Amino acid sequence: MRAVRIAQPGPVDTLDLTLQDVPEPQPGPGQIRLRIRACAVCHTDLHLAEGELANAHYPITPGHQVVGTVEALGEGVPGWSPGERAGVAWMHSVCGECSACRRGESNLCVRARFTGLHVDGGFAERILCEASFAYRLPPHLPDLQAAPLLCAGIIGLRSLRKADLAPGERLGLIGFGASAHLALQVARAWGCEVHVFTRSADHRRHALELGAAWAGGIERPQGGALDRAVLFAPAGDLVPQALRLLRPGGTLAINAIHMSAIPAFPYEILYGERTLRSVANATYQDGVDLLELASTLGLQVTATGYPLSEAGRALSDVKHSRLDGAAVLIP
Ligand SMILES: [Zn+2]
Ligand SMILES: [Zn+2]
Repeated sequence: MRAVRIAQPGPVDTLDLTLQDVPEPQPGPGQIRLRIRACAVCHTDLHLAEGELANAHYPITPGHQVVGTVEALGEGVPGWSPGERAGVAWMHSVCGECSACRRGESNLCVRARFTGLHVDGGFAERILCEASFAYRLPPHLPDLQAAPLLCAGIIGLRSLRKADLAPGERLGLIGFGASAHLALQVARAWGCEVHVFTRSADHRRHALELGAAWAGGIERPQGGALDRAVLFAPAGDLVPQALRLLRPGGTLAINAIHMSAIPAFPYEILYGERTLRSVANATYQDGVDLLELASTLGLQVTATGYPLSEAGRALSDVKHSRLDGAAVLIP
């Protein structure tokens, strides 16, 4: 089969991401093999390709938002049959025994293994996954629209939860890509007023089309303090600016696996019982919840398809924010 292999990380605009022939993987006990139909591109894939993730090892096939058809089953796999559609997300497996797993925070498992980081991911024609971590997808959603739900959607929902967002509150979204465009719709369904901060004129237009109350630059916020905010851009410079948007008691959640250094800031912008926290990974249940919301709320997924052979162009477009919503590779 063919797959994108990153042997040596580097800037995606110059990295060689031509497809390579690799052996077809064989499912072990408890695993299933999918024939991949679509795999969305995440900022994490970009950080992996550019060598910004400390625990990455190479060569590796990136990609952790995979829609495929069950093709082969390992021993002891109940509940799945060949021909069914399934989804694979970032979480490949957890230990189930560590203190994080025992207290229900399996996203923080010390022995967690992640798709497209520790095991080969979905920038390929086939993938193996643990059957117990595979998802059933809303039947009405085409592959192109279902794939971005599997990280952008899931982590967007977890970010809203970690931002303590309550119905009817005023929410700020800083950066507006694949994850934010889905989080916006969930927040709107909860009756929240959403303010979007982005430099891109195209992204401002997209946000307003999806129901944002306001879209503009972070240097000129409009109308009063926000209750909650989520920072999607991996730019530490924005953290103090985002904190300044919050009311006392407000929360800023950072949705980024990697971020440039956060500059020193005066204590007064955190004082007033404001909360600053990061968001790391997501539990399997977060994914179940998001996929159910996608059905009940009728989330609109904006996605652009690219042939798998053009993974480099897709990563470059994500890096430079040259598209609305999500980039999705189609083998
Ligand atoms: Zn991701
Ligand atoms: Zn664990």
